[in-house]
Amino acid sequence: MVNNKTLSEYCHAYLNVDAFKDYSPNGLQVEGRSDIQTIISGVSANQDLIDRAIDEKTDALFVHHGFFWKGEDQRITGIKKNRIKALLDNNINLFGYHLPLDAHTEVGNNFQLAERFGIKNPTPIGDTLVWKGEVDTTLGALSKTIEQALSRKPLIFGNEDKPLKTIAWCSGGAQNYMDHAIDINADCFITGEVSEQNPAIAKENNIAFIAAGHHATERYGVQALCQHLSEKFNLKHQFIDIDNTV
Ligand SMILES: [Zn+2]
Repeated sequence: MVNNKTLSEYCHAYLNVDAFKDYSPNGLQVEGRSDIQTIISGVSANQDLIDRAIDEKTDALFVHHGFFWKGEDQRITGIKKNRIKALLDNNINLFGYHLPLDAHTEVGNNFQLAERFGIKNPTPIGDTLVWKGEVDTTLGALSKTIEQALSRKPLIFGNEDKPLKTIAWCSGGAQNYMDHAIDINADCFITGEVSEQNPAIAKENNIAFIAAGHHATERYGVQALCQHLSEKFNLKHQFIDIDNTV
């Protein structure tokens, strides 16, 4: 068992939250009961996930996509009211960790993807959120590895026979970060989402491009964080996947 404030302080230090300028507050976003014995992890704090957390009578819910995003309407109305009311009525703590959970060198989404995709020497590119590493494969074979790892068929742009040695990746909606991959002459860039202009940009820069799913590429960081917390504080943890094909 652990106190919710203690857990928040631990995560703040462990994930090096102060090092990030983020689009939403990292940490305890909605305060629930103070004693925590059970935790649930999930990708996004939508109503389906909150309802499952209530069914499971959990003490805390950990997500990658929480509340209070920069630029959004600040009022607590509509679906935001429904979600927050459900958490407060059931005394469930909501912890949200965004960029710190992409970047962390053990439990972060990008490191976790490297483990699942068999990428060697995974490391961030400078101070960007994009990572680089080495493989010895082809675009077609890598796409099969990704499909098996994520249980989702990725969108592939490029010749399947293209040999891959250096690859770059960034979980989530990082299609606009392809430049960082081009700058290091990567053979392939992997992220979650694709925009209309990305296939042409990739082709003209002679780089293969894979869109493996925003949700699918961000399932693993929050799970790894909660697995770590469950061992550290002797908590019961389960991951709940609310399927999302995007
Ligand atoms: Zn995301």
